[in-house]
Amino acid sequence: MFSIKQAERFNKIETPFYYYNTELLKNTLAEIIKHAPSSYHIHYALKANAHPTLLGFIKGAGLGADCVSGNEIKRAVECGFDAAKIVFAGVGKSDKEINYALEQGISCFNVESLHELQIINELAENKNTIARIALRINPNVDAHTHKYITTGLEENKFGINPYEFDAILDAIKKLPQLQLIGLHFHIGSQIQKLSVFKTLCLRVNEINKWFIQKGHLLPNINVGGGLGINYQEPDKQAIVDFKTYFTVFKEFLELRPQQELHFELGRCIIAQCGSLISRVLYIKNGINTNFLILDAGMTELIRPALYQAYHKIENISKDSSYGSIKYDVVGPICESSDCFGKAVALPDTKRGDIIAIRSAGAYGEVMSNHYNLRDGVKSVFDSELRSQ
Ligand SMILES: *Cc1c(COP(=O)(O)O)cnc(C)c1O
Repeated sequence: MFSIKQAERFNKIETPFYYYNTELLKNTLAEIIKHAPSSYHIHYALKANAHPTLLGFIKGAGLGADCVSGNEIKRAVECGFDAAKIVFAGVGKSDKEINYALEQGISCFNVESLHELQIINELAENKNTIARIALRINPNVDAHTHKYITTGLEENKFGINPYEFDAILDAIKKLPQLQLIGLHFHIGSQIQKLSVFKTLCLRVNEINKWFIQKGHLLPNINVGGGLGINYQEPDKQAIVDFKTYFTVFKEFLELRPQQELHFELGRCIIAQCGSLISRVLYIKNGINTNFLILDAGMTELIRPALYQAYHKIENISKDSSYGSIKYDVVGPICESSDCFGKAVALPDTKRGDIIAIRSAGAYGEVMSNHYNLRDGVKSVFDSELRSQ
């Protein structure tokens, strides 16, 4: 929750910028550590936010790193993550990226196709090394989330389908540089119904049993990430209910004693820790619509334009961020989709007021871009402001 005092501090800084609450991040990490049984291995999905300062806290809490590109692996290594705790996923790993990951000796490649298995084997052979791999499985579980962030259905490009399993196991027998160590699942993002994770557990049980029957008792079971957050009321539940989330897996997942459970959480760790802070440039009143034109746009936060994502918008320069005037809150970019929210109820707003776009810590800064030759977006941390 932001105060007017906070708005005054923000007023002295050039906008737009991302503001990160590292106190909240520390508390979120502490909750994860508190509620995850010690046998659970938690990885942080760097693609949600790869700022080195934030990664420092996450690494410090003992989490591993889930990477989806060579540069994310590089960032994780530079920020001190142990290679033994780095996993590499993605449907389109380039040869350069695979080679780099092999050189770093990462713990596991999450492999998405038969063809990729063959290429990793070949590249590992060139380096005279063994690549540890997990099969990313498409479990055909509906995540009941937005279609653009659903990944676990057969129609999605991700993962290996059950009808391919026999062929995959036959192929692996003939690929001596590969060591199959696990099964990997990630069905989508911003999943709010915990029943979806229960369904996932039941599918994982079936698939795990199938592999065990075929003689593959695999040590790593990785259930991915996807736990959703409360975008509507970011202050009501700043830290998600990790206890209940982990309980679903404790209750429904049937693991053998030799098997470890791995998670890859992104959004639910970092989303509520970040807000996009901007200033009102202009107010433009029409017959039916009032526009609030900000100095931040889809170049800083693309989620609303990309997949109709909702972010809470607050005028923090006013006593109460609530009000009865409806504005379409838009950015300066030359695209009609550059809109953060339609008919947003706000107090009477003036040029220069500070607007906070909440829950923007995940998939915000990392997706920012230079369209319209915009400046790169800056980031500011709570610790810097306190010392002012
Ligand atoms: C994006 C992604 C995650 C993290 O998803 P969140 O919804 O941010 O928790 C985890 N694993 C893989 C493979 C991913 O692609």
